[in-house]
Amino acid sequence: RIFPVNASTPQQPSPPLFCILLSCHLTHSALSFLSKPPSSYPQWEEISVMDERNTPMRTYQVCNVMEANQNNWLRTRHISREGAQRVYIEIKFTLRDCNSLPGVPGTCKETFNMYYYESNNANLWFIKESQYVKIDTIAADESFTQVDVGDRVMKLNTEVRDISNLSKKGFYLAFQDLGACIALVSVRVFYKKCPLTVLNLAQFPDTITGGDTALVEVHGMCVNSSEEFEAPKMYCSADGGWLVPIGRCVCKPGFEENKDVCQPCRPGTYKASATDAYCTKCPPHSSSSQEQAVECACEKGFYRAETDPRSMSCTRPPSAPENPISTVNETCVTLEWSPPRDTGGRGDITYSLHCRKCSGDGRKCMPCGGSVHFVPRQFGLSSATVLVTDLQPDSNYSFTVESQNGVSDLSPTPRGTVVINVTTSQTGESSMSVVLKERRSKDSVTLAWQGPERPNGAIVEYEVIYYEKREQNYTVLKTRSNMMTVDGLKPGTTYVFRVRARTDGGYGSYGGEIELETSHEDVFAIGDPNQSTILAVSIAGGIVLLIFLVTCFVVSGSMHSFFRHCGYIKAKQDPDEEKMQFQHGRVKLPGSRTYIHPHTYEDPNQAVRDFAKEIDASNIRIERVIGAGEFGEVCSGRLRVQGKREIYVAIKSLKAGYSDKQRRDFLSEASIMGQFDHPNIIRLEGVVTRCKPVMIITEFMENGSLDTFLKKHDGQFTVIQLVGMLRGIASGMKYLSDMSYVHRDLAARNILVNSNLVCKVSDFGLSRVLEDDPEAAYTTRGGKIPIRWTAPEAIAYRKFTSASDVWSYGIVMWEVISYGERPYWEMSNQDVIKAIDEGYRLPAPMDCPVVLHQLMLDCWEKGRSDRPKFGQIVTILDKLIRNPASLRELANSSDPSTPEFSVNTVDEWLEAIKMGQYKESFSSAGYVSLDSVLYVSVSELAKMGVNLAGHQKKILSSVQSLQTQGTHVQV
Ligand code: AMP
Repeated sequence: RIFPVNASTPQQPSPPLFCILLSCHLTHSALSFLSKPPSSYPQWEEISVMDERNTPMRTYQVCNVMEANQNNWLRTRHISREGAQRVYIEIKFTLRDCNSLPGVPGTCKETFNMYYYESNNANLWFIKESQYVKIDTIAADESFTQVDVGDRVMKLNTEVRDISNLSKKGFYLAFQDLGACIALVSVRVFYKKCPLTVLNLAQFPDTITGGDTALVEVHGMCVNSSEEFEAPKMYCSADGGWLVPIGRCVCKPGFEENKDVCQPCRPGTYKASATDAYCTKCPPHSSSSQEQAVECACEKGFYRAETDPRSMSCTRPPSAPENPISTVNETCVTLEWSPPRDTGGRGDITYSLHCRKCSGDGRKCMPCGGSVHFVPRQFGLSSATVLVTDLQPDSNYSFTVESQNGVSDLSPTPRGTVVINVTTSQTGESSMSVVLKERRSKDSVTLAWQGPERPNGAIVEYEVIYYEKREQNYTVLKTRSNMMTVDGLKPGTTYVFRVRARTDGGYGSYGGEIELETSHEDVFAIGDPNQSTILAVSIAGGIVLLIFLVTCFVVSGSMHSFFRHCGYIKAKQDPDEEKMQFQHGRVKLPGSRTYIHPHTYEDPNQAVRDFAKEIDASNIRIERVIGAGEFGEVCSGRLRVQGKREIYVAIKSLKAGYSDKQRRDFLSEASIMGQFDHPNIIRLEGVVTRCKPVMIITEFMENGSLDTFLKKHDGQFTVIQLVGMLRGIASGMKYLSDMSYVHRDLAARNILVNSNLVCKVSDFGLSRVLEDDPEAAYTTRGGKIPIRWTAPEAIAYRKFTSASDVWSYGIVMWEVISYGERPYWEMSNQDVIKAIDEGYRLPAPMDCPVVLHQLMLDCWEKGRSDRPKFGQIVTILDKLIRNPASLRELANSSDPSTPEFSVNTVDEWLEAIKMGQYKESFSSAGYVSLDSVLYVSVSELAKMGVNLAGHQKKILSSVQSLQTQGTHVQV
């Protein structure tokens, strides 16, 4: 049988599955699952009784309380584990209170033991006691005291235990009674599975949760018609939820995503690439008649060029150019026309010209050959005009102008053309030989030339024509001199120049094309330009080009030499964030709110003298070792301060054989800590530097580091207590950020807790992030960073700021609410970085109020300016503490099938949670109103005589629900 429990959270796509291996509510069963106990242990008996609804119920009972030395065993049949490594055993039983049985000896027990034995053999008849492995000793939360037959209430206890790392085919369960009065009502054995789920188009199979390693890494298979975009994987958590989706699949071309499947594109639509999200309608002049189209086919007469995007309409060749005009100037002609009426739907129209020279009657035409020139070019013109030069005088020409576009080559139909017939006139001088010399700058070119050798008359003027090499427009300039400076040119651009002369007889032919490139920068000639080297170039048309070779070199204006100060190699404070003050020689200025980095001191010893008090070693008494620091042992002890009583202190010492640098780094922690004075920052008492060993003395924090402390007290605090701790840490961090100090390694392991549960921020050493923290890992950029606690921008480009401290604070919140769980569990650092980048954030821990998880998520905003400031966090937490009702709504609320009671008084509440026996204790300890019990602690419960761990847990978890759910108590 499979049934879902728990509401799913956004990160857990499906609720976990509980797969039952064995379920024996003993009501109707013949108890066949229980093997017959060997004859030497006949004391467990199968008996029928009535439950609270007066339904008959079969139980296994044993109640040999009057005799000592009991050892009664009850064993199940072989239970196959079906591949599960961790199975859960839920037992329901009743247990009789020994005190309620008159005249029983002291050997009467109120517990029994549960064991298992792993075996591949499903038919074991006998298992030796010594072969069993103990699961636990089971005590009742509820023992019943009297059996009143008329009004009998069977108080059932339910206990769940688990066994991990199973490897054989199955196991036997056994119950050992050592002299209690027990009735075993039901045994249910089950394991948990993460259910088959599809996320990001990847299917993740039904996965049995892991054994001791809590997370199972599962690779997803892309659903049909999809392909991997990035390898999909998720983790199956111990409680059957899916966590941390990474990677995704995408629908193949021709398919689109719809509710976890890829469905084919409908006719009339298409999807060209897997990375496109959806199928789109076919563009104009195209269609797809079948499903799954990856592109749409063009209608007849329309085409798609190779480089056209698939989303572009299909197009066709253009119609012919229109309205041709020619302007003849002796042996030149300017041809102009209008663009075609139909562009074919494209913007890439070009024109090509074909020239033919025709006989006088125009009947016979021949191709013109290479003597005719087209300015700017003959083929691939983008503007509708061209200048044709070097035509023969007094001749007939026929020019065909052809229009084309990107799909003309794909179309079998002939190109659209227009023909222009031209007759040239008689000319003057026909050949010109020119000598050109040039000088170039960034925006001008100076040209000089000699006229034709044999002009057919006096030269009236010269015409210079030039154009940008790859452009269409040309410019014509005229001059009487044989030299011209053309300016207004673009830097670093190639221009083509041609010159021709005009005599009274008309224009001669152009000299050859001269290509010149303007310079990128202004250049400076050295020496007399007239003495520049002259290079003569002979061109086909007899043109000699003289080029000034301008020799130049750039004078490097400045010598860039600067020396970096390499002070902060390790935990360097970010200069953007840090406003350093150079106020050497003074201890904490009143009103000085800015932290002074010890590295701003030339002599680090001076920083220690400024900020830390020297303590006489004879005033210190070391008592015991409490931890290990980077530089040596950490001990606890006492410090005698003159005029004050002895105080408990922690003493960090620098181990023998240290280098100068180690001494400096060790003491840097004291010179940093000594600048702070806040109830949530660990207080420096002083240092011992004048004798060995060198020591740092701080206040003593009885409960040690927060992570270990929380693990040790799992589930024992109320939400308000946890929020109180978080408030303290936030307040300490606000103080640090106000002083422009960036911590960089805020984590529960670096918070210390004192006997009053006050949390204080510690660990200020300069080298700590690099050397000390076992969590720190090398990043690709070479720095060593505690990845799981660090903001993405700090990992990626070492942008450590108070905002990155806020990110770490969010992680600390998660650690606190989950009682010291490791952030991101056993995921690798690389997977954590990737998951964060893909937007994954840690889900709410168990029983976490929505508001707290929301605050965590705010701290984990990708944009650092979007994260709250520490001041705001303190304000939010203060409000929550003042108004505990705001913590009622849980992010993953509990099983709705759990009954609820509405209570108004302490007595009603204790009754409702079946702790009525403590009514007296509560009222005599002064807990008279429901409000007053909201802050009860384990130690106070113990003082009241509530010593059973199970009872303490029950009361505290109910207090927690009183805080969060108000007077509706779940039991
Ligand atoms: P640290 O070198 O600061 O990381 O200290 C090493 C360990 O010594 C910590 O994890 C604590 O368990 C313990 N410790 C350090 N300082 C104190 C203190 N002031 N009070 C109590 N325990 C401390």
